[in-house]
Amino acid sequence: MQLNIAVVPGDGIGPEVTNQAIAVLRAVAQKFGHTLKHTTKNIGGAALVASGDPLPPDTLDACLSADAVLLGAVGGPAFDSYPRLKRPEAGLLRLRQELGAYANLRPAVCYAALETSSPLRADVVHGTNIMIVRELLGGLYFGQPRSLDGEPGARVAINTMRYSESEVERIARVAFDLAGKRRKKILSVDKSNVLECSRLWREVVTGVAAEYPNISLAHQYIDSAAMLLVMKPTEFDVVLTENMFGDILSDQAGGVCGSLGLLASASIGGKVGLYEPVHGSAPDIAGKGIANPLGAILSIGMMLRHSFHLEHEAESIETAVGTVLSQGCRTKDLARSGESALSTSEMGARVVSVLNAH
Ligand code: NAD
Repeated sequence: MQLNIAVVPGDGIGPEVTNQAIAVLRAVAQKFGHTLKHTTKNIGGAALVASGDPLPPDTLDACLSADAVLLGAVGGPAFDSYPRLKRPEAGLLRLRQELGAYANLRPAVCYAALETSSPLRADVVHGTNIMIVRELLGGLYFGQPRSLDGEPGARVAINTMRYSESEVERIARVAFDLAGKRRKKILSVDKSNVLECSRLWREVVTGVAAEYPNISLAHQYIDSAAMLLVMKPTEFDVVLTENMFGDILSDQAGGVCGSLGLLASASIGGKVGLYEPVHGSAPDIAGKGIANPLGAILSIGMMLRHSFHLEHEAESIETAVGTVLSQGCRTKDLARSGESALSTSEMGARVVSVLNAH
């Protein structure tokens, strides 16, 4: 198969982790007899510096004409004072919108070898395997009106949380379909005791559930779901939630599993799938060569599964990551005191070498 990929490394540690992810994709392509063609473009702060636009037209064209897109991360302190539409994050939000990627899948798996890296007790996290299904194109991040106006000292800011029935229904179906391939359990997370959007969300999700009698559905408020996630993470299977709640819960799940650097994501549902690690550009460690590339590498696994339907290839990456972790390979974020840490490129090379050896 020809794997035609657009790579948008972005800012901070984005280029560092995407380099390793591409090295792994190259190794998988070679091993399974696929041809890899990839083109690299600017996004976010890198694009702002180069052209004044966080999503330049040639980047968008390359992404729309690829079979799948790999993104690193965008953002950084240098851009914090930029106006909203000129911020790196605006480029990413626009890309998700242009690709029509409304379903963001964020698996959070606690690897056996990393149970002691979690800030929680090993017996609490043992067996944690969660799939967060986050709605990606609605809610507060996109709702209109939005503004920040007024004189200093009397300014008023507005954001709008907005959801239509059809937006809730389509993401709910993604979650129910996924749950059917897992432990058949969905927790829909909302704030329906306070928000109209959440009341609609709960009603629509309950309606969709009627079509899936083999899936058990429970509802939970976001505040108590956040608590439950650290108290009893193993009770979660599929978590279905709106844009901002999913953004927050998935970072929290990263903490539960030992590091945000481990988490992968797939944004699907549109013409072209977008794959990116859950973490941001991590300016505090950018340029040091110590970022954990496993979230980006596992995002390649999700790309192979969801965009190319290459299940064996996807599993080979997941198995290789599990193997390097069980061999004791750790980047700095995972190493406990006294343990030595691999660099970003050393960790990537270890994954490639396991892939080549099997
Ligand atoms: P972050 O995810 O960049 O970092 C949070 C913490 O996790 C930091 O201490 C960082 O060092 C650590 N971390 C993150 N990824 C890591 C990795 N792969 N290996 C080791 N440690 C890792 O979040 P932040 O600091 O809140 O945001 C930094 C910038 O990233 C901001 O500009 C923000 O807007 C942007 N951001 C972008 C995305 C995205 O591109 N999808 C997502 C979140 C944040």
